[in-house]
Amino acid sequence: MRSASRYHITTFGCQMNKADSERMAGILEEMGFQFAENPNDADLILYNTCSIRDNAEQKVYSYLGRQAKRKQEQPHLTLVVAGCVAQQEGESLLRRVPELDLVMGPQHANRLGDLLEQVFNGEQVVASEPIQIVEDITKPRRDSSVTAWVNVIYGCNERCTYCVVPGVRGTEQSRTPAAIRSEMVELGQQGYKEITLLGQNIDAYGRDLPGSTADGRHQQTLTDLLYYVHDVPGIERIRFATSHPRYFTERLIRACAELPKVCEHFHIPFQSGDNEILKAMARGYTQQKYCRIIAKIREIMPDASISADAIVGFPGETEVQFENTLKLVEEVGFDLLNTAAYSPRPGTPAAVWQDQLPEEVKRDRLQRLNHLVSVKAAERSQRYLGRTEEVLVEDQNSKDSSQVMGRTRGNRLVFFTGNITQLKGQLVPVKITEFRAFSLTGQLLLVAC
Ligand code: SF4
Repeated sequence: MRSASRYHITTFGCQMNKADSERMAGILEEMGFQFAENPNDADLILYNTCSIRDNAEQKVYSYLGRQAKRKQEQPHLTLVVAGCVAQQEGESLLRRVPELDLVMGPQHANRLGDLLEQVFNGEQVVASEPIQIVEDITKPRRDSSVTAWVNVIYGCNERCTYCVVPGVRGTEQSRTPAAIRSEMVELGQQGYKEITLLGQNIDAYGRDLPGSTADGRHQQTLTDLLYYVHDVPGIERIRFATSHPRYFTERLIRACAELPKVCEHFHIPFQSGDNEILKAMARGYTQQKYCRIIAKIREIMPDASISADAIVGFPGETEVQFENTLKLVEEVGFDLLNTAAYSPRPGTPAAVWQDQLPEEVKRDRLQRLNHLVSVKAAERSQRYLGRTEEVLVEDQNSKDSSQVMGRTRGNRLVFFTGNITQLKGQLVPVKITEFRAFSLTGQLLLVAC
């Protein structure tokens, strides 16, 4: 076994990848590795990759190139590629970067220790076969000491025609409610205040668990899970992501309204405002159904924050169909909208369709959408002005050390003057004095002891 001492993990992409990286860091520390802030001081380099769009994928190759060169001078260096590009490319990554020691798909994150044993015995390893994800026993090395991600379901059974996720993260695998609750109990004991329950399609939670029937009548659901974990001691806030309009229920909204710890924020990607495009994307709902969901949320929880994801420039998207997306954004008024230009992905149906749009058309539409998104977000932010908001203090403002930052229950970033040593992890009342499209400034209201 090679005695490597220090590791560095670079994470690309979504919250699921961030959560996987935290678990893999925990496994490495369990093996005796220490974290190296600077990758060039590390003996083991791990890239946890994203392949949701081409530019995300290309990023890792430039990083890898540098480390592969370094490995030619320092043969003891261990090079690992994990995540969605590793799953998508598998063996071919070894041909492209022969210096690699380990290529491992997202389903294998919890097996990092075993796989490295094989590497340290001199093997070059590719782990991308579909497996049943085992519960992780090691303690994740979490980036925050205030908020934590908790996976509830891995993979996705949907078949959105632009998406690589089902191909790289596999079929749905829900964790048991007991496993999720015990992880949250431990986090509560460690002083964590906020939990985000994670799933690519979190509304599918439970449908693969034993006892669930195909008609869904006897099924553990996300709503049941929220009731089951709501009373975990020490946890003050519960969030969840990512929702799917196809399976989103009124029962879930009513549970969120009823359960005090569940924050008033929903992340529900709509992707397009045009029904023809939604059909071509195989999303399984119409823009009318989407708007009914938003209307129901606002009827039951009028002040709830709503964020989403949208794609412009999908193959065949006409100017009129794009304008339907603008109309939906205008009508809904999102607190935040993650936008992206369509990027053809390997192995996805839409990538081989004839009617791909020119890059300049995609760029133009993205710009127009982003402009509207900022205008609407500023309108949404304005409602906070003069209000006193409960803010969970997470960190110091990296741009102004006299300030701290945190988020409202509606997931809006707030900056205000304060001492991070005193306030970190505290839920404090903050009077909002300024608003911007995506963040707020406020004043800490001192609580009489
Ligand atoms: S729901 Fe669709 S977009 Fe989301 S991860 Fe699954 S396949 Fe991808």
